[in-house]
This record gives sequence, structure tokens and C-alpha cells, in this order.
Amino acid sequence: MSKSLLIVESPAKARTIKRYLGKDFIVEASVGHVKDLPKSTLGVDVEHGFTPQYGVIRGKGKVISALKKAAAEADEIYLAPDPDREGEAIAWHIADEIRPKKGDKPIHRVMIHEITKKGVREAIAHPSELNEDIYNAQQARRILDRLVGYQISPILWRKVKRGLSAGRVQSVALRLVVEREAEIKAFVPEEYWNLKATLAGEIPPEFVAKLSKVEGKKIKIANAEEAAGIKAEVDSANFDLAKVEKRQQKRNPSPPFITSTLQREASLKLGFSAKKTMMIAQRLYEGVDVEGEPVGLITYMRTDSTRLSADAVTNVREYIAKKFGEDMLPSAPVEYKAKKSAQDAHEAIRPTHIYYPPEAVKNFLDRDQYRLYKLVWERFVACQMKPAIYDRTTFIINAGRFELRASGSILRFKGFMALYVEDSEANGSDDESEGDEGRILPDLSEGAPLKLKKSETSQHFTQPPPRFTESSLVKELEEQGIGRPSTYASILSTIRDKGYVEMAERKFTPTDLGTLVCELLVKNFPDVFDVGFTASMEESLDEVEGGKRDWRELLTKFYKPFEKSLERAEEEMENVRARTEETDIECDQCGSKMVIRWGRNGFFLACSEYPSCRNAKGFERKPDGTIEVSEGEKLDESCPECGKPLLIRQGRRGRFVACSGYPDCKFTRPVGTGVACPGVEGKSCDGELVEKQSKTGRVFYACNKYPDCTYALWDRPITRECPECKKPFLVEKFTKNGTQIRCPQKGCGYKEQGE
Ligand SMILES: [Zn+2]
Ligand SMILES: [Zn+2]
Ligand SMILES: [Zn+2]
Ligand SMILES: [Zn+2]
Repeated sequence: MSKSLLIVESPAKARTIKRYLGKDFIVEASVGHVKDLPKSTLGVDVEHGFTPQYGVIRGKGKVISALKKAAAEADEIYLAPDPDREGEAIAWHIADEIRPKKGDKPIHRVMIHEITKKGVREAIAHPSELNEDIYNAQQARRILDRLVGYQISPILWRKVKRGLSAGRVQSVALRLVVEREAEIKAFVPEEYWNLKATLAGEIPPEFVAKLSKVEGKKIKIANAEEAAGIKAEVDSANFDLAKVEKRQQKRNPSPPFITSTLQREASLKLGFSAKKTMMIAQRLYEGVDVEGEPVGLITYMRTDSTRLSADAVTNVREYIAKKFGEDMLPSAPVEYKAKKSAQDAHEAIRPTHIYYPPEAVKNFLDRDQYRLYKLVWERFVACQMKPAIYDRTTFIINAGRFELRASGSILRFKGFMALYVEDSEANGSDDESEGDEGRILPDLSEGAPLKLKKSETSQHFTQPPPRFTESSLVKELEEQGIGRPSTYASILSTIRDKGYVEMAERKFTPTDLGTLVCELLVKNFPDVFDVGFTASMEESLDEVEGGKRDWRELLTKFYKPFEKSLERAEEEMENVRARTEETDIECDQCGSKMVIRWGRNGFFLACSEYPSCRNAKGFERKPDGTIEVSEGEKLDESCPECGKPLLIRQGRRGRFVACSGYPDCKFTRPVGTGVACPGVEGKSCDGELVEKQSKTGRVFYACNKYPDCTYALWDRPITRECPECKKPFLVEKFTKNGTQIRCPQKGCGYKEQGE
């Protein structure tokens, strides 16, 4: 019997797919990428057509041998990694490894958008060739990111601090956050006043109208005196109902989810980060166990298309008619136009089985999976239901030379709103909501006299633009054309992980470091980190994917000016280590002024008389820009010498623990790590590993029993047992590719990518 081999990237996906294929199929998983650029070097031959130097990823040798063996035994091979650029690259790299040296074996590419019986079988019945254009678009993006990251980061290390990194797209997202912060700081609030009048006609209820015009022009009340004058005039005016406007208003359902809208809604409704949303969506796509069988519950989650398959629409229309009644069903399917950049092969994110409503699978999902699935399911069903209808009434009221307005609306027909309503984000204005839903106006006709019951004025201030949330930043990235469905989540998590932004009340605020790095990058690489430039680069990559552009030509065009900027930045980028900023803070040891300097651990306050006075302190920059000395983070521990609380303080030589009773008590000690010293040369030791700094300023970790015990290491130890060799601690290593967690035991080699 002939055997076929199908390869996907994830074991969970393999398990679900296996269910739908016969015995003549073997399904294997590559467990992600098998090849990548090297970590330690640039890995791109810039001189020779930007040829990437891929190598097998460490630890993937075994996987590749297994795939090779399975391929040798199969008659036909199907490569089914995810249907997008990243998946295409995985497929190419696998094909490169398993393609027989001699002879020919059919290798097909299959795109599985939904892991259902029909989705899998149809994909296999209609396989395609590996698509070189899509692969080249992925390679070009990977190489661009590599060139920018690996060539700019070392300059930052020299000029600012080791371990920093620049990212082609992340740094532009950071720029949006930093520039928004600058706008907020520069914003001058403007005072304005509103006037509201409670009016009564001959028929109840009373209603509230808002002053809108004076002598036909929009009114602006600037201060309390003006407001009082206008109120006095309004209070003595005669009111009559000049005009009644009645109309029906339709509200349409939102289109089915694409990646960006899913991330936004999950953030607003469920409080999920974009990263978390994608992780859960991936699980739902790859398959979760329902009644003992793996089921792919939603379609592929990285997409920018709102297209729906004809089958899905037919099924959901049947469901709506049955569940909600014929009058909730539009006469024809609702069509959603895709953006022009969207790839048409893709579909919106929707449930794969309409007859798995959320309640039916609730017991098989964890709480977060259930909540996300419910969101996808309801949004999809709602998108094919009838619009909601409101009866909206507006009163225009004359009062002397003033005009007031009141409006109300009644929900006449619920339509899709019976099931799902999209959340909207507060827009940062403190103007009371203009929403008039549910507010009912009395049934009065034009010309009706009105009585003033009371009038009230209120003071307001214009508001600065709001800080970005996960939801609004994804929206901004999408609107500016930066990033793609596959990258939004990683852009957001990267700028956070690098310490360039902080989340305060779920909003992005740049850190000092983020602001500094952004400022240096924008100044020295004005093109690369320009929003428009980055957006047009995304478009160029789309052109490569569409076969309309050569990827090497694109890279050449990018690299020539970039290389010049690199050379210039080497010379001209400000060396922040030499920067000082004056303050009014007096040194509490010698009375001189203190200055803000950049140290190995960020900005700190140093005495301007250094080196004769070595006083140094941490500080905080208040929202209004003033500098305040911060005494340091309090520990839950008291001083062994005087009993006062201990603090972590920032000194010239890094962090240390000091007594809050300083200068009366001079107790200090290094910052501990909580990791017990393993001892040297088989000798046991009851010391603890603590943070220290070498003479050259590099942080390292050593036993606090030094010099009795000389155990020391460079990487930060963390209190976690090695899952492989059971060594009692692991270490964190900072690499160009983020933090890696490794086992320090020689010969163990355990390694994982940190957050
Ligand atoms: Zn001093
Ligand atoms: Zn003390
Ligand atoms: Zn020791
Ligand atoms: Zn180990």
C-alpha cells in the first residue's frame, strides 16, 4: 500500500489532523522552525546578494533525522505548516532537508485554514507547489530585521548600555508611544463650560437639553463669569420647541474577526494581552479535546481578510433562522469587503462548527479558551444577523438668542445586538457621553411651549490625547500600515520585555530608557524608523509575496542608504555615558548640586563634585517633569545592626542594600539572589549568591562567603530547578535575541527562551 507523509509544525495540530486522514497517512510535526540564521553572527552575506546562512537550529537534529526517515519511506509528501509566510518558510526549510538526493519524490504544499474533516480533506485534494514568492517575502523580512537589529544594537551598546536592542518594526511602535507621551506632556488644557436646562412640556416626562448655539453659531463658554452671565440670560428667556426631527437609524453588526480586531476586542472585553489572545487562538485552531477527540474549533488566526466561505455562511444562516427566528435573518447573506492589501486565499477568524455553540463545548475548554471562543462564535453569528433599528428624535429649542438641543432614541429592533455588541474605547474626552440611547423625549409637536425647571452650568477642561492601550496601539499600527497579522502581538510584547515601556493602568508609558533609545534611533536613522517608510516597506514585502518585486533588489535598495547611516551613527551618535543634566537638588553630604547621569544601571543622581564627593542616589521623574530623590525600594527586612528598615539603593557601583538609618547607621550589603551557593570543587557551602560589580563595571554573581568560598558566575542565577539534570538553579543570559534561560551545569545544555 502506498504511504503518504504529512508534516506540520505543531504536535497538537498533527494530532487533530491525524483524526481526519486514513491509515495510509503518517502525520509528523517539526515543532516549529528547523532552520534559522545563526545567533552569534550576522548570518547574511551582504556582498553576495544578501544570501542568508541558515543552519539547523540546535536541538533540531533529531527532529530532522526522524522527518528524513519518514520521508524516505513515504511515496508522497505533503507539507502543511500554517498558511502564511512563516509557515511557508518552515515548509521550504523542511523540504530542503528531506528532498531525496537522487530521484524525484512529489512534495506538495497544502494550506489548511480550518482543521475539520472537510478543511483537511479538501486541502489535501487540492495541493499546490511550494510558493517561492511567499518564501522570499519571509526571507526578505527576516533579513531586514536581522540587518537592522544586529547592526544597530552594537552601536547602542557602545553609546548607551550593553544588552540594548533596536528592532526594525518594534522601534517604530516604541516611537508612537514616545511621541504620544510628548504630546501629552506638551498639552495645555483649555477651560470650557457647558449649560444644561431641564425642561417640561405639557406632556411628561421632563427632559434635559444642552445649550448649543448663540445667534446661529456654535457656542463656546470660556470661564465662570461668562457662564454665569449666560445662565442669567437663559433663566429669563422663553422656551419653545422650534423643531422636531424624527428618523430611523440602523446599526450594522461588525465584520467577522481578523487578527487585529480579535486582539482589540479580547483586550477590551476580556483584558487579554495580544500575546495571550494569539496563544489561546492558536490552541483553538490546532485542536482541543471535545468528547475525547481533538477538534479544531476556529479557523486560522493570522489573517487580514474578512472573507467567509460560502459553506460557513449557509450554515450560520440556517442556524440563525432556527435559533433566533426568520425575522433575525437578512434576505441575503451579508458580505464584508476585504481591504485591498488582504490576501484573498485567507478567511476571517470564525468558528469551524456552527453546531458547537460555546455552551456545548464549555466543559472541554478552560476558562480563557471558553471566553475567547465565545467571543469568536458570537461575533461571527452576529455578523450575519439583521441590523438593529433605533427611532431617534431630536428637539431643537429656541430660548431668546440661544438654541438648545435634546435627543433621545429608542431601540425599535434588536437584531444582531441580541447576541453581540462591539466594545468601543473611551476617547479621552471628559465631555459627558453624547449617547442618548434609552433616553426618551416626550411626544411633543413643533411650536409647543416649554417651561424651564432648572438650569445648571458645569466646568470642563479639554483633555490630552489618551495613552495607548494594547487595543488602541494595535489599531494605530494597523491604520498606519505597520506590522501584519503575524507580528502585532510580538511587537507589543517586545517593547515591553526590553524595558522600553511600562504598563500603567493598562496603558503604555515609555520608560526613561525607552525615550532615550527612541530619541537616539530617530535622530541617527531618520528613515529606518519613520512610520511612512516602515509602512511602505510592508507594502514592498507584500509585492514580493505577490511575485511583483524581486527581494534582492528590495534589500539592495534598502541597504545602500542604511549602510551610510550606520557609518554616520558610529561617529555621530551621542555618547550618553557622557551626558549630564543639571538639577536643583542639593547633595546631602557636601551641599553641592546634584546632576543626572547615565550609569550602567540607568539614570541616577550623582554629586557634581564627583570624584571628591561620591554621593549617588536613585530618583523619580514626576509627571510634571520635576525630579525627586527616591530613597529606594523598601525591603521586608530590618537592619541587623539598628533594626530600621532596609532599602535597595542605587549607587555609583550599581544596586546595593543599605540601612534607611543612613548616615547614622552605615550598614550595607550586596543584593541577594535567593540562590544557595553550590560550593566549589565538591565542597558544600551554606552561602548565598549575591549581586556584585567587577572593577570594569560588569555585574556578576558571587558567594557572600567570599573569600572563604570563591564560587562566582557572570549570568544571573534564578531559583528554579533544571528540569533535565535537576541542578537546583538556572541562569539568565542576555543575548541579542532576548533573554535565554540556561542550565549552568557543564554538559547539560538545557536551554529555553525567556519572556
Ligand atoms: Zn556631594
Ligand atoms: Zn542600620
Ligand atoms: Zn559559597
Ligand atoms: Zn541541567
